[in-house]
Amino acid sequence: MTPGGGATCRHFHIGGECENCGNVVHIRRARRAKIAAQIERELPGLGDDERPRVLEERLREQAAIEVEDQVRRREQARAEKARHAEARTADQERAEREHAAAAAAETVRQALACEDCGQQQAGGLCEACGYQRRTEALIVEAGMVAATWSADLADQADIDAVAADVRASLAADIKRARRAFLDSAPPGELNADRIGAAAVLAFGALRMWRRRCRNSAAARWGAWD
Ligand SMILES: [Zn+2]
Ligand SMILES: [Zn+2]
Repeated sequence: MTPGGGATCRHFHIGGECENCGNVVHIRRARRAKIAAQIERELPGLGDDERPRVLEERLREQAAIEVEDQVRRREQARAEKARHAEARTADQERAEREHAAAAAAETVRQALACEDCGQQQAGGLCEACGYQRRTEALIVEAGMVAATWSADLADQADIDAVAADVRASLAADIKRARRAFLDSAPPGELNADRIGAAAVLAFGALRMWRRRCRNSAAARWGAWD
């Protein structure tokens, strides 16, 4: 099977000697020899006139088995490919479903009103109230820091009293500053933006206060944090 003149062999090899065809010829010869030896072994008394017939018969059987094998392998490969395609489709569908669910959850989350002030579409907590909460947390922290400096640390009631005192005084300061900031707005301009700005300012002022506290505490004890 040496195709020439641009013809292709069954392996789509063009011109020259096809390695696969060469292999096929080699395999056929080897098989023929093997089956001939088998017949020799199994039927030693077979006459010379019978031998070629038996050989051809066995070769045909062998060829039929190989064709069946090939068909089965091809079908298995096709089924495997179909299974893979199915799994890939299922994966894609699951990813799309998860993406859609996440998007829906995010839409719902964004639509949630602010827990603190009820502002619509605030993602559960509006920016101003977020700052307000952080400010309140800072005030609590400030009360505890102040108590470690000036309270009698062996006296829980004293610690509580100092902390409460500092909390009350800071809260009042912030409320005053916030009021002043809001009052400085021209009438009619007291909108949500300005209220939000007041919350941010309060938080910023408190953070600065905390930094000062830490610096002076560090100076006093040589370390903090
Ligand atoms: Zn070939
Ligand atoms: Zn809010």
